Amino acid sequence: MGLRQPKSMDECVYFTLRTDKSKSKTKTWVFKEQCTKCKDGLMGKPRDPKTGKPKIRALEYTCSKCDYIVEKKEYEATLTANIEYTCACGFSGEVQMPFKRKKIKIFDEEDQKEKSADALQFVCEKCNKKINVTKKMK
Ligand SMILES: [Zn+2]
Ligand SMILES: [Zn+2]
Repeated sequence: MGLRQPKSMDECVYFTLRTDKSKSKTKTWVFKEQCTKCKDGLMGKPRDPKTGKPKIRALEYTCSKCDYIVEKKEYEATLTANIEYTCACGFSGEVQMPFKRKKIKIFDEEDQKEKSADALQFVCEKCNKKINVTKKMK
């Protein structure tokens, strides 16, 4: 068990706890990366100057020290997702993978039909079952 744990949400670009339909549990987090320009600050969502809160929907990330800007897509392609999971089979493990979601089909219980969703997908080390960390849908 060697994954570095975040000490606070400020260190993360992304953090989520999920239980999927098959009762697999996942905890996923993605650390902010260091600024490639000044090698000092961390790249995060720009903050609203009025409230001081990060602008979640911003399409870019900015350096906390030198205000260097990187486009959201370009930055997220360089990130690594850390995932701790407990599979429905009872196995607990951890994986690291590129923070790149892919399109998957999931069955929507409420609407009783298949829907496509964006998800990080990996397989359980023990039973090879696919486990998804889906992007929250609105
Ligand atoms: Zn910087
Ligand atoms: Zn399993």
